[in-house]
Amino acid sequence: MNVLKFGGSSVANATTIENVIHIVEQQSQQQPLYVVVSAMGGITDLLLQAGEEASVNNENYKNTLAEIEKRHLEAVKSLIPIISQSAIISKVKAQLNTLESLCEGVFLLSELSSKTAAVLASFGEILSSYIIYETAKIKGLDITLKDARDVIIKTTSSKVSIDYKETNQKIKDFADSNTHKICLFPGFVARTQEGEPTTLGRGGSDFTAAILAAAMDAEELQIWTDVSGMYTANPKLVKQAKPVHHISYQEAMELSHFGAKVIYPPTIHPVLEKDIPILIKNTFSPEDQGTLITRKVEDRKKPVTGISHIDDIAIISLEGSGMVGIPGFSKRLFETLFLENINVILITQASSEHSICLAVEASQAENSKTVLDTAFEFEISKHKLDAVKIENEVAIIALVGDNMYHHQGLSGKMFSTLGKNNVNIRAIAQGASEKNISVVIANKDIKKALNILHERFFEVKTKQLNLFITGVGNVGSKLIDQLQQQNKYLKDKLRLKVRVVGMSNSRKMIFNENGIDLDSWQEHLTKGEPANAASFFAKAKEMNLRNSIFVDNTANPDIAKVYKHYLSESMAVVTCNKIACADEYHNYEELQNLSRKFSASFLYETNVGAGLPIIDTLNNLIASGDTVHKIQAVLSGSLNFVFNNYKEGATFYDIVKQAQEQGYTEPDPKIDLSGIDVARKILILARESGNIMELENIENEAFLPAESLDTKNVDDFFTSLKTNEDHFKKILDAADKKECRLKYVAQYEGGKAKVGLQHIPEDHPFYNLEGSDNIVLFYTDRYPKQPLIVKGAGAGAEVTASGIFADIIRIGKK
Ligand code: ADP
Ligand code: ASP
Ligand code: MG
Repeated sequence: MNVLKFGGSSVANATTIENVIHIVEQQSQQQPLYVVVSAMGGITDLLLQAGEEASVNNENYKNTLAEIEKRHLEAVKSLIPIISQSAIISKVKAQLNTLESLCEGVFLLSELSSKTAAVLASFGEILSSYIIYETAKIKGLDITLKDARDVIIKTTSSKVSIDYKETNQKIKDFADSNTHKICLFPGFVARTQEGEPTTLGRGGSDFTAAILAAAMDAEELQIWTDVSGMYTANPKLVKQAKPVHHISYQEAMELSHFGAKVIYPPTIHPVLEKDIPILIKNTFSPEDQGTLITRKVEDRKKPVTGISHIDDIAIISLEGSGMVGIPGFSKRLFETLFLENINVILITQASSEHSICLAVEASQAENSKTVLDTAFEFEISKHKLDAVKIENEVAIIALVGDNMYHHQGLSGKMFSTLGKNNVNIRAIAQGASEKNISVVIANKDIKKALNILHERFFEVKTKQLNLFITGVGNVGSKLIDQLQQQNKYLKDKLRLKVRVVGMSNSRKMIFNENGIDLDSWQEHLTKGEPANAASFFAKAKEMNLRNSIFVDNTANPDIAKVYKHYLSESMAVVTCNKIACADEYHNYEELQNLSRKFSASFLYETNVGAGLPIIDTLNNLIASGDTVHKIQAVLSGSLNFVFNNYKEGATFYDIVKQAQEQGYTEPDPKIDLSGIDVARKILILARESGNIMELENIENEAFLPAESLDTKNVDDFFTSLKTNEDHFKKILDAADKKECRLKYVAQYEGGKAKVGLQHIPEDHPFYNLEGSDNIVLFYTDRYPKQPLIVKGAGAGAEVTASGIFADIIRIGKK
């Protein structure tokens, strides 16, 4: 025979109950069945809520009861043919009346004892089993209903101790007298040795089924629920989680102890002793394989089987010199908690024995503190111990696997994965059996931690990057195009899944944890919320996603100011905005330090030469031990474009206008033409070469007339270019006369840097630079005479976007 248990969601309403009856009917054709059912989903919570409300004189308990009544009557009306309804409805109503009277009693007495709460909670299973029994009988199944309270006897000493001798005897007696193929039992409910009704604790229907299976020596215990087995992590929180088809009792026990509530932990004991396999199945997808739980699992290579978690716990810590070397201290500690029926989920003790740390359910934290403070009152008063400390809003995450035993480096991987994503670990425990490593972290980090650990241990192949993009103009929109276009390549070839989860321009911002649809981002963005840099950051922090990267495609100083906040939250920063790196040295240094301290990449390759690998090349030279002596460069794609195109027949104004329109200049072209932009670039290269330098240390020989330099806005600037055409013409003629070309050259040598317009003769490597090309010559120890040259298109939205793209991928590959 088999024992089948159906959980709350499997019997939540008439439709799902029909499913259950169908499954039972089919299986009963193969062998006799014992079937255990939970209360209809959510009913136990409502029953306990009604009791709580009544106990504090809150009249709302009547509404809660009405809701309970409605759910059950609706089910009866849809499941039972009209002619048979009245008798069944009146029985259901009789139960509901008793329930109401009980709640009235609680209301009048303003008191809810644990015994009364247990009686109230029992109604859920009593009602659901009755309704299912009547429905199945009408459908012609050979079924009987047995009240589990007549056969399952609990000892009073603890929450889940069963008087197995008595219980097994009663089950056998019932089995002997039974003549039906299917026996249906309400789960969860039981009776004490004194004959009082009680329950087996939340989730206890699984336990009912396990007790029956063990007593009857069943061939298999089937737990039917709303997921297709035990997953590598809770599938409601980790989308990538997969069912594990076969696991051991030990693993199931560890996983369920640490929150995988597919099975209730005590369930395993009775069936483990008898070696009865447990099969987890999905009521809503019965054809799925599910999970088989047995004593041993062969042929599994992976060390980690699953990751589970419990939220809403509290850590209690006891500290003080009074504990060191004193035998019996832990005994007193645990005895005190045991006597209060407080379940300890996790224990860690520092090897100095100076402190001990326990995790308990959050609801038991206050009580734990009170009893422990009393138990150790003497030691605390003598200052041998500090008062007991409680820390709330924490959670436990556990890696579980039989094969973790003697597998080195797992905890290191776990901690570094969490650390890299700024998840702070409060306490660590590793079971002596090495089948489990548990850490305590903040509740708010749970989802992120589960996902990064899952990615690390189960999806090594793909990594997800979450982008927060600010600035979707010229460069930003090109970047989005490239991301969209390369999506498949990144996934297939680099195993990177890149999602844009936040997007902002200067007016609006939008967020979507599942990734903004890049086919219609413009449309979404216009409907976004009002944007500003601080709230964009606040939202990114709140979303708390793994591998978050902030991408700045603007030239805005206010946005550059926020980088440090991202880095301090271990979010990477990728930027083409030069302001941060060209700001005062101590700010540049602070960002570098934060990047190191929080292991958050800070990449700005596009600050110099757009997509050209200039900074990367320089960093590699230095990292490999080379020393830079001199850098000579043409670094302004914009000025290059302007001076390459400024010839007889065109005005300087026309050319600058054209450069701006084609995206070759900063939005404010004065930044380029005044030489500031080039000065910033050589400053960044000097700093990357190891020099401490400020922008004012750079000699800048401006070629713009004073009038243009003094303008306050872009329009005035353009007007000044028109009125000063003569000035520009003179500059051009002077170069032409010497058969030279005009190039705006940046130079760094001997710790000094300068920028300015130069006459370049024909034999110079700069002479033939075309269009918006950039060129950099690095003179180093290894390249003393013939410099290392990087040359290519150094401006334009497309190449800048591709440089940002490359920085993003660089982070992804780390
Ligand atoms: P039932 O009502 O059938 O007893 P439960 O709600 O008690 O169902 O247990 C099933 C739920 O357990 C799933 O819906 C899922 O959210 C949760 N769960 C947590 N961890 C896991 C895991 N590792 N694998 C599968 N389910 C899990
Ligand atoms: N109905 C009970 C609960 O919700 C028992 C169970 O479903 O297993 O906790
Ligand atoms: Mg359950």
